[in-house]
Amino acid sequence: MVLWMKQRGSGPYGTQEDDIVRSSTDLVAAILRKISGQPNGCVLWHGTKNRGYGHIKVASRRTPSGVQSITRRVHRVVWELFVSDVPNDRCLDHLCRNKSCVNPAHLEIVTVEDNTRRATVSTHCSKGHEFTAENTETVVSANDPNTPMRRCRTCSRERVAIVDRRSTRRKKRL
Ligand SMILES: [Zn+2]
Ligand SMILES: [Zn+2]
Repeated sequence: MVLWMKQRGSGPYGTQEDDIVRSSTDLVAAILRKISGQPNGCVLWHGTKNRGYGHIKVASRRTPSGVQSITRRVHRVVWELFVSDVPNDRCLDHLCRNKSCVNPAHLEIVTVEDNTRRATVSTHCSKGHEFTAENTETVVSANDPNTPMRRCRTCSRERVAIVDRRSTRRKKRL
């Protein structure tokens, strides 16, 4: 759980020291261009989305293969711009359950565990294995480090077994 937090940078919006960070004025202007208020109070993001969450470019990073855009979740950037920093061991939860909403009044700082628990509604994986403590592992993907996800251990084991079987078969044929 702690590993990915260390990978986050120390600059604003989780950027690294050498990144060229967009100014807050620039970010606010960019955000205002792509949001709209809803009758229920949600403020929806209409720009780029990933798994339902709005994403915005916050910085550029020079890499050996060229300049890379660093994007962050818009609701988190809005919170950091208008409310406060989000401690590394906390995440922002949508009280309105609307992932593309960026209204700070609809957000709440919670622990990663709280957020996982709240987001967790299913008791079984898609193959029907129960998410018991022993059968559940938490994974964090590199391109979406703010959302830890549950993964079924039985399914992970079976995936590995399939790959093993395939490679044994290939060896036999040789
Ligand atoms: Zn909302
Ligand atoms: Zn499973």
